[in-house]
Amino acid sequence: MLLIFLLSITVVLGGCAAPREEVSSPEQNELPVQSKAVLPEAEPDGDGSSEDILRLHFVDVGQGDAIMLQCPGGENILVDGGDKAQGEMLCAYLRECGIQELTAIVGTHPHADHIGGLIKVVQEFPVKAIYMPRVTHSSDTFRDLLLAIKNQGLKISTARAGVEFPLQAIKAQFIAPRADYYEDLNNYSAVLKIDYGAKSFILMGDAEKESEEQILSSGLNIKADVLKLGHHGSASSSGEDFIKAVAPSWAVIMCAPNNDYGHPHRETLQALGKYGVELLRTDEDGTLIITSDGQKIEVYKKGKKEASAGLNPVPEPAAVPGEEAVFYIGNLKSRVFHRPDCSNLPAAKNQIRLPSREEALEKGYRPCKNCLVPENCLVPGSAAELGCII
Ligand SMILES: [Zn+2]
Ligand SMILES: [Zn+2]
Repeated sequence: MLLIFLLSITVVLGGCAAPREEVSSPEQNELPVQSKAVLPEAEPDGDGSSEDILRLHFVDVGQGDAIMLQCPGGENILVDGGDKAQGEMLCAYLRECGIQELTAIVGTHPHADHIGGLIKVVQEFPVKAIYMPRVTHSSDTFRDLLLAIKNQGLKISTARAGVEFPLQAIKAQFIAPRADYYEDLNNYSAVLKIDYGAKSFILMGDAEKESEEQILSSGLNIKADVLKLGHHGSASSSGEDFIKAVAPSWAVIMCAPNNDYGHPHRETLQALGKYGVELLRTDEDGTLIITSDGQKIEVYKKGKKEASAGLNPVPEPAAVPGEEAVFYIGNLKSRVFHRPDCSNLPAAKNQIRLPSREEALEKGYRPCKNCLVPENCLVPGSAAELGCII
């Protein structure tokens, strides 16, 4: 257990373990002290302008959400904190990133997988403001958070559509909740839209289709480059109309591997595939760091830089025709997967590397008719009837 715990800390800390340089404000004014360099060690283009960079850390807290924004104006905003058991790890991650003070904390809604870890954060870090939707919950976790907030002498500000953070360089505004009452607690989720230069980001909390529809009918511009999907990729969120309207290039799904809820759901993955959205998943990629200078976006997985549009060059496969390949190439758009030596491979920016046939099928990819034996042909005895060529 201890080993697993230590390992998981090491993995998560990887995102912020770059050498850091603390920059104190010379006037000793009230601005939070901000770490200057928090990019992963692999970051090659140190152009010295890191204070102009917006960083969104999607911290791997297993089944739950925890997103830390480091804003170009020096503000730090934490949106959710995973469950209670993640609090200690999350505090360590924030410290590794050089965070000494939080400008604001957002508890998107009172479910434990979002607010549990915030209890520790509120106890350990100076916090200027805390935003939550106007709804209560009878859980111990919710009560403990309220107590921690009270003990720090903090008051909760209401998170609802139209409320904007007073930030220097970026715009961050709640676009939901838009109603006073919802049957499902998830729909009370504070949904945050962040605009920086030409780039936009939307963090959905656990908001579901009801809230999505209200956002859609508000007439707001909800186009965004990155969409943190509602409710861990559940089919109760991410309606096709909503995905179409947001039209993101990347979708972030925060969930644990093999979670009890089956997140992300197949319907969600299919909808994303239909619109060619690139998937980023904490269950597969670990902690994700997305950075932007307002013009372009870069994605880092566990501290490793990924090409922002597409995959690394595909290595020469050692596959022999007729045999299963050592890995497969999926087409993010058509959801078809190929042998690496197929003559019909998708463009590099639409490629995803899939380690096995099983995994490809599990993720909803179909085998290419050109280079792969169709699934049904692998059922013994069926090959001849199906006209399979094996
Ligand atoms: Zn929830
Ligand atoms: Zn949740």
